[in-house]
Amino acid sequence: MKILRTVKEIQAYAKAMKAAGKTIGLVPTMGALHEGHLTLMRAAREKCDIVIASVFVNPTQFGPNEDYAAYPRRFEADCEKLATVPVDAVFHPEPAEMYPDGYCTYVNVEGDITKKLCGAQRPGHFRGVATVVTKLMNLSRADEAFFGQKDAQQVVVIRRFVEDLNLNVHINMVPIVREENGLARSSRNQYLSAAEKEAATVLSRSLRRAAATYARGEHDVEKLKLIVTDTLETEPLASIDYVDLFSFPDLQPLQRVEQQSLLAIAVRIGETRLIDNVILGGEAM
Ligand code: AMP
Repeated sequence: MKILRTVKEIQAYAKAMKAAGKTIGLVPTMGALHEGHLTLMRAAREKCDIVIASVFVNPTQFGPNEDYAAYPRRFEADCEKLATVPVDAVFHPEPAEMYPDGYCTYVNVEGDITKKLCGAQRPGHFRGVATVVTKLMNLSRADEAFFGQKDAQQVVVIRRFVEDLNLNVHINMVPIVREENGLARSSRNQYLSAAEKEAATVLSRSLRRAAATYARGEHDVEKLKLIVTDTLETEPLASIDYVDLFSFPDLQPLQRVEQQSLLAIAVRIGETRLIDNVILGGEAM
């Protein structure tokens, strides 16, 4: 597995692979890799000749009071996991390599898809994501890029700018990978104490309850949201950031679920903000 640390190195690698006629799959991550990330890597491995993972804690997608400094960095352990897939190359730049002195260009997806859910609570977050993902797609010359449904709004935003900017990359969305107890895998789960980890199972439990009620024929949005809220409120360590339901993938408000829809939540367990979601009404692509 090649370790690429500079813009020049990844550009040379991608150029050589393209010249050899290979298709390239990109899997962007912030590291502290877990089974969710590895599932994306395997999906890329299946579909593409060459898999490039990136491990980069992207400063531009964190707000000033968020966990950029504390975010877990475990590059050696990450490389060991990536080698088991295996991936062909990992891009692991320093922040100054991606944002050198004088850097001042950003990709800003306007419109309401970046203003709701996590966009409402994390101003600038999707601008940072769109900017770094655009750079990573350009650097890797990816034909395919792989993202998790765990961050479903991120997938919506990425598909939007890929279409708007005519980028020639196909976006693949991979289902959420969970622990046996239902907790969605996340690098931020490392922040949780044992008691908080147990409490955090309330997120998936609340979504499962709503999904089961939907499957039994309840399509009223407010009633479905109330099932989630009521369940979350049974857990004393949980405090709700949002519980929302929108059409998917266009994220428009609904009164009734009569089409594919995203039921999404953000919940603080102690100090740790966790997100989870379920897609109602048909399999998402
Ligand atoms: P992150 O390192 O948290 O930025 O995540 C990198 C990619 O992995 C994103 O596309 C995430 O949506 C995806 N991902 C993170 N956790 C999971 C999970 N539990 N299941 C599926 N994909 C995930």
